[in-house]
Amino acid sequence: MDSIKRLIRDIPDFPKPGIIFKDITPILGDPAAMARICGAFEREFESLKPTRIVGIESRGFIFGAVLAAQMELPFTPIRKPGKLPYDKISVSYTLEYGEGTLEMHSDGVGSDDRVIVIDDLLATGGTAAASCELVERLGASVAAVGFVVELLFLNGREKLAARNVLSLVTY
Ligand code: AMP
Repeated sequence: MDSIKRLIRDIPDFPKPGIIFKDITPILGDPAAMARICGAFEREFESLKPTRIVGIESRGFIFGAVLAAQMELPFTPIRKPGKLPYDKISVSYTLEYGEGTLEMHSDGVGSDDRVIVIDDLLATGGTAAASCELVERLGASVAAVGFVVELLFLNGREKLAARNVLSLVTY
């Protein structure tokens, strides 16, 4: 995954002073890198027999939707407030730089779904933990949570408790 790491650029002081933003857009411009990432996710997750991929807005949509199409699984988006048109559930959470709310359609997962939750980056873990809570509130189980990047020094895995966590590139 060193070749993937070379495609992640550091943007200091974005979106706030003191934050080093990990910009993954160069990965999106490299189809071979996208294929390697989604191939690695599929190899790790296929034995869990997932029934659905859930992607977190917005970069989780990109990797999650590509993975879902590749694994021939349905995809469900978890979105920031006010974006989803249908009946929905919501959760509030804290993140590395602020506070937020996430929403999912109330028919986004079924009670017998085994879900893989995907986002681009694990920082403090608040976003992913809140997303797992939405999935589990509807009775589904989280088979694994997958990230392209993990910032180890923020200990985000602790917030994900006993859940199965996979990250491909770590800092
Ligand atoms: P957290 O809830 O703290 O784990 O934050 C994770 C979410 O915020 C993910 O959706 C990331 O895309 C975004 N994020 C947090 N910190 C960074 C960072 N340093 N670089 C890029 N994205 C970040």
